[in-house]
Amino acid sequence: MHHYASASATTPRFCPTLAFWPAEPGSAPRRFDPQTSTYAALPDEFVIRELLAAPDLDTFQRDHGHLWQDGPELRFRHMRASARYWVAAALGEEDAALDAGVPEGWERASSLRSAAAHMRDTVNRELEAFSLRLVEVSSDGASEPALSVDVLQVAALQLAQLTADGLQARRCTNEPCGRAFVRQRSTRRKTTNSGEYAGTAHAAGVRYCSAECGKAQQARERRRRQRAEKGTRA
Ligand SMILES: [Zn+2]
Repeated sequence: MHHYASASATTPRFCPTLAFWPAEPGSAPRRFDPQTSTYAALPDEFVIRELLAAPDLDTFQRDHGHLWQDGPELRFRHMRASARYWVAAALGEEDAALDAGVPEGWERASSLRSAAAHMRDTVNRELEAFSLRLVEVSSDGASEPALSVDVLQVAALQLAQLTADGLQARRCTNEPCGRAFVRQRSTRRKTTNSGEYAGTAHAAGVRYCSAECGKAQQARERRRRQRAEKGTRA
């Protein structure tokens, strides 16, 4: 889309420069938090990790940004049900997928088809935020609109991408963790004060959701071996 930006050279100075947004369909824009006026890219798999780990909406908003689109409580519940459904389906847990497919307090999904339809409709509602449009380009050349998308909408985009990649997830084999994941995170730190997330580069993880979980489980198994050796000597 570069040739669109270069059109600004011929645009009269008194006209604001306009550009396509999102610049590339499928790219993940950063979420905007109007309370702190900060942008942040979400770490990979945020939608099946942080979103599901949050105990409630207030904690979630405090840690990850304000949900400023209409109906945050309902949106939060529907997106969590959708993420839980995806995780259960990706782990091959049919019964859990039926239970997870609708928000808490709702009647259990009657079929996996209807649970999948709930996820599809929920994600599609959130994805409306990413409709292709013209936005003003600021003086520093940034074309990210100030009020573009909130954290749940970016999470929905992640879920859409996970779904498009196919149903593949596994559980972390660090015993106290057991979290579902697709790829290992090499670092897992909280957001910094500026609202930016710490680096979340990942390697192809086989057994653990994070490097920290791998270290913890290896230490546990080492202690067990040491105890067993002591036991045989005694
Ligand atoms: Zn883990």
